[in-house]
Amino acid sequence: MLSRVPGWARFLAAGLSIIVLYLWLPDSPVQQAWYDSLAAAGVVAIAVGIRRNRPERPAAWWLLAGGQMANMAGDGIYFYVQNILHDDGFPAPYDVSYLVSYVLMVIGLLLLLRSRSAGRDRAGLVDSMIIASAFALVSWVFLMRPVAEDQGLGLLGQLIAMAYPALDLLVLAMLAWLLTSDGPRNISFLLVTADMVGFLVGDYFWAFAQQTAYDPGTLGSRLIDCAYLIGYVCFGAAALHPAMTKIGRPVGRERVRPMTLRRLSLLTAATLVAPALLLWQAWTGHGRVLDAYAIVIGCVTMFLLVVTRMTMLMRQVHAQALVLAEQAGQLRRAARQDPLTGLPNRRAWDEALPAAMRRAARDGTALALAILDLDHFKRFNDTHGHQAGDRLLREAAATWAAHLRTVDLVARYGGEEFVVLLPGATLAEAAQSLDRLRTVCPMGSTFSAGVATWDGTEDGDELVARADRALYRAKQAGRNRVECDLVVAGV
Ligand code: GH3
Ligand code: MG
Ligand code: MG
Repeated sequence: MLSRVPGWARFLAAGLSIIVLYLWLPDSPVQQAWYDSLAAAGVVAIAVGIRRNRPERPAAWWLLAGGQMANMAGDGIYFYVQNILHDDGFPAPYDVSYLVSYVLMVIGLLLLLRSRSAGRDRAGLVDSMIIASAFALVSWVFLMRPVAEDQGLGLLGQLIAMAYPALDLLVLAMLAWLLTSDGPRNISFLLVTADMVGFLVGDYFWAFAQQTAYDPGTLGSRLIDCAYLIGYVCFGAAALHPAMTKIGRPVGRERVRPMTLRRLSLLTAATLVAPALLLWQAWTGHGRVLDAYAIVIGCVTMFLLVVTRMTMLMRQVHAQALVLAEQAGQLRRAARQDPLTGLPNRRAWDEALPAAMRRAARDGTALALAILDLDHFKRFNDTHGHQAGDRLLREAAATWAAHLRTVDLVARYGGEEFVVLLPGATLAEAAQSLDRLRTVCPMGSTFSAGVATWDGTEDGDELVARADRALYRAKQAGRNRVECDLVVAGV
């Protein structure tokens, strides 16, 4: 039964259960060993995952594993220095391990994300920069400036103390980039995200506790340990999951993604961080703003990034509008065109006929209309095949259109029937034009036609019906001829 549960899930479940137990262990070397074993298990799981799943770009994963290992080594040294040597000095050797761990993690994430978005997801990049800028400002005000002003630390101490929040900020920027990036969001992706969140929660909590001299107590510090442990376990499980190979894969093609309400809210909140800090400092300082310059830099950076993002959105909207206009034009043309012959179709004809009648009435000119029907077209199809029939329709349409005047209009009425409008033509002139068309009928075919002229009062249907009756007579009389409707022959 258990064997059906995949390895990553078993590792995750076991890891999380052990973390829960860790919460209740009394302070002792056992508790420390418990912590270290879990961290080590996470690193081993990553190594096993890389070997088993064979990601395309293993370097990113090895760097991330190295980062976790350096972090674990830092924890070990920290325990030794604090609890065995009872040395509270700063900076200490474990700082080197911790800082190396960050650097490895940031480079690993950078490699993973670069291949994931393949330099195309610029919108995601700008969004994550906006979020990271907001955090940078908060980080400066609460974590970095106090250290920068603390002369007691010495220069090296100051640099190292500032390096922590600076590197945390980089990890945070990576997390924001990961979350805003295109690409697969599978279980492995979620676990990597959980790992980064775990580490950042732990780091930021300790940083703020240190700044404010807040003692979280045993349970509080255990909870924070758990955030790191969850990070280790989630990352191990992420590497064990077969979907880990897909995280770093670039998305197929750039998708046009709408700006979601969630993302918009997040960006709005980020851009409001600077004015909120300004307000808070002005309020508590009775008008004196401690970090005026930093806030100005933060504001300007975020404004510029927002404008960049707006420009990208405008370009996106403009490009989409062009595509839509082009497609609308294509649709309009397609809706009025017969796909086989390229002639105006019945829909276009139904608009053209009343318009031509209005023009003829306005100008007092004649208007002739003819219906053409290919003779024995069914037989042609049966003898030569349907495709040859199609070719005949196409060639006949092209030939007739070429032999008519530019003011004339030939349209496909349906099947092998065509209609011709001849503005200004008398019945005799129209019949003559149609007879000319009969002589150029392609592929040895013939047609019969009925011609009628508009009486100036009837509607389009009546005019067509009269031409149709003439066509019927042409068929009856033996085909391959043009018959006129003589009711108003005098026009
Ligand atoms: P008539 O001389 O009395 O007009 O005889 P006909 O065979 O031309 O007329 P009928 O109405 O019996 O047959 C029309 C044929 O036109 C039947 C139909 O299969 C064919 N047809 C209609 N549309 C198309 C088309 O788009 N392509 C092809 N190849 N044939 C078509
Ligand atoms: Mg017919
Ligand atoms: Mg026919």
